[in-house]
Amino acid sequence: MKRDYYDVLGVDRNADESEIKRAYRKLAMKYHPDRNPGNNEAEIQFKEAAEAYSVLSNSQKRTQYNQFGHSGIEEAGGFGGFGFQDFDLSDALRTFMDGFGSFEDFFGGGRRARSRSRKGGDLRISLPVDLEEIYSGVTKTIKVKRYETCKECIGLGAASGHMPSRCITCNGSGELRQVTRSILGQFVNVTECPRCNGTGEIISNPCRKCAGAGRISKKVEITIKVPAGVSTGNYMTLTGQGSKGERGQPAGDLYVVFEEKEHKYFTRHGNDVLTELEVPIYQAVLGDAVEIPTLTGKAKLTIPPGIQSGKILRMRGKGFTQLRGSRRGDQFVRIQVKTPTSLNKKQKALFEQLKASNGRAEKISVRKVKS
Ligand SMILES: [Zn+2]
Ligand SMILES: [Zn+2]
Repeated sequence: MKRDYYDVLGVDRNADESEIKRAYRKLAMKYHPDRNPGNNEAEIQFKEAAEAYSVLSNSQKRTQYNQFGHSGIEEAGGFGGFGFQDFDLSDALRTFMDGFGSFEDFFGGGRRARSRSRKGGDLRISLPVDLEEIYSGVTKTIKVKRYETCKECIGLGAASGHMPSRCITCNGSGELRQVTRSILGQFVNVTECPRCNGTGEIISNPCRKCAGAGRISKKVEITIKVPAGVSTGNYMTLTGQGSKGERGQPAGDLYVVFEEKEHKYFTRHGNDVLTELEVPIYQAVLGDAVEIPTLTGKAKLTIPPGIQSGKILRMRGKGFTQLRGSRRGDQFVRIQVKTPTSLNKKQKALFEQLKASNGRAEKISVRKVKS
């Protein structure tokens, strides 16, 4: 059960902005991981406070939270749809670090500018699936190479025992504004701060493991639920599952594009499955019940007597389920009558008999080709 954000910060529901700031700052000081090394409980409290603060300090999010509680925030995508687990510790630390400036700019707008420029990259992978898996839906584990938060420096980029410091050139905003006046009016030119490369902070002792980037390229396994009925080109967006940004900036997204694997027997046509069945001449003449492969394994198919080559039989409901629907496709089986090519003496005699007994009832006929 998630605690109420007001309870977490220990403030009244009517608390104003500065009360909320003060309460958060107190908690952040108390539970900061640097002051509580190895203390999981403190880390949880610290994150909890940071999360509560990030919502209650934003008037729009706060209104949503007051009206709908935690669900209002999650639906609005306040935490990338992943809730608390995905809340990055380095993000919480960063909010805290901003507090080392003067009280007025304690929670300055600098973070927003940096988030824009340092977001992690989006990734795209294609995932081959067989038709049987598409039929039933499947859970797959895929390997993805992406940037992960460096554990050594928890994404801050500074060597252990050190903290990044605020860039004095841009005062932590990561950008420089130059105002030019001309007869046409005033122009504001915004450029990335060259001293800190737009990060807003300077790392004098970079982490050795990630060289100060705060992230490390790593192969990770991700489990994906492939919904039944997908087709080639359909894709899933996994928000926040792309590469982590530099030094704790938000992660990009992961796009998983599905790709149908070629099947030994089946051709897909929308929700239907097509297959061809070669039938010996005696079965075509006399009819039979046979077992043929379907997406769910073998199933019985009745071949009516006297079936012709090219005739298509339908196996109802043996196709795919419509994606985001319940309609099921069918399996269509095209019959191909197989004329025997090597007969022994006895068999040849039997065909001769057939021919003689048939008299003139069946003969060749010429027809126009239908275009
Ligand atoms: Zn590192
Ligand atoms: Zn700077």
